[in-house]
Amino acid sequence: MTYKAWNNEGLGFATRQLHAGYDPGRHNSAKAVPIYQDAAFQLGDFDRSGRLFSFAEDGYSYGRYSNPTTEVLERRIESLEGSGSMAVAMASGMASTANIMLNLAATGDEIVASSTLYGGNLTLLRKILPQYGIRGIFVQGENDPGAYADAITDRTKAVFVECLGNPNSNIVDFEAIADIAHAAGIPLVVDNTFATPYLFRPFEHGADIVTYSATKYLSGHGILIGGIAVDRGGFDWLGGKYPHFEQFYDDNRDVIDHEKLRRFLFALRLRMTYLCDLGSYMSPQTAFYILQGMETLSLRMERHVENARRVAEFLDAHPNVAAVSYPELASSPFRGLANKYFPKGAGAIVSFRPVGGIEAAKRIIGRCELFDFMVNVGDAKSLIVHAATSTHFGQPDYALEAAGVAEDTVRLSVGIEDADDLIADLAQALA
Ligand SMILES: *Cc1c(COP(=O)(O)O)cnc(C)c1O
Repeated sequence: MTYKAWNNEGLGFATRQLHAGYDPGRHNSAKAVPIYQDAAFQLGDFDRSGRLFSFAEDGYSYGRYSNPTTEVLERRIESLEGSGSMAVAMASGMASTANIMLNLAATGDEIVASSTLYGGNLTLLRKILPQYGIRGIFVQGENDPGAYADAITDRTKAVFVECLGNPNSNIVDFEAIADIAHAAGIPLVVDNTFATPYLFRPFEHGADIVTYSATKYLSGHGILIGGIAVDRGGFDWLGGKYPHFEQFYDDNRDVIDHEKLRRFLFALRLRMTYLCDLGSYMSPQTAFYILQGMETLSLRMERHVENARRVAEFLDAHPNVAAVSYPELASSPFRGLANKYFPKGAGAIVSFRPVGGIEAAKRIIGRCELFDFMVNVGDAKSLIVHAATSTHFGQPDYALEAAGVAEDTVRLSVGIEDADDLIADLAQALA
């Protein structure tokens, strides 16, 4: 047998999304990834048990720490993200981002973030982490890289942005912001949920840590909740700014392979500290479904983008639409950044404000027969939602304004149906 595609980083993206990280030869020759539905694993001999629990040896002991099915998903994401990274799968996108923040910061620390974040990320930084003494500092004017420099202090432990802002798909200048973060000795964290590694690979533009809600495009069919954190590797955590990483390094340097420990200090501490003891690992069933979805990631994203472009152009030309946000439109202030960072397309989230304000927005949502009224995004099926009362529910007025959420903002998650049907549905709803 000469099958080697599971471990060939030279293969193209579409090939790796089908093959990377899974060797059937190690799993009874099963071509589909088996679901290891298992809580605990044989420890073997006494010495091996010790090595497993100290993470000196790769392997499985307890299902809250790792699982062979979930690990295939981790290897596959690492491959798609760019070789040399380390992924940790989580029970949800929020679990991924929350655990990343806990791994970065302690009481007295700050996280500098853009204001145009997903509602859950806003709540995490604005309400939850502050209870533990970690403050989210939202920059004023996130599209100006200088605003991040102004917001960073001695206590800042990371800068956090989204690949495409929610709900208006605004784009920040990642490379400029990464340079500013690195000059301050801190990492750039990017929530890459809306783009997926097919449309945007943050590590190639200066990011150090990536977080995903796999609930969305990665799995792609609206059937599960999942998340993934990815560490690019190589960030210097031992320069004096992160005493908790220095402690972790000292605790493990005699046990874990030294090069691996140093390179992946972030991902290893994330797993060994937060995942192992707060317990938000992804279940093998969920990982299996995400792997199924990811086999068609590139195909779906191409179609999502193609349809989003058509929908955005249709809305842009419609007399009953007051404003459309989609980065590729000629009218978008983000067109230049879209060309630079998203050559394959700037995602498939299109938002608009109808003529007639909130009453018109309610009417349009009520009339849609194909776009379904749901809060999710990244489903193969098209969805419509009213941002202020759902994704951004409960945010104070100033936060809504900073996030670009108007009272009448309607957000579309454009699916992979026939574009003509999508446009016909919006046409009749807007008439
Ligand atoms: C949905 C979403 C999240 C949260 O993910 P869950 O899987 O629902 O926990 C985080 N960030 C973005 C951009 C999202 O769209």
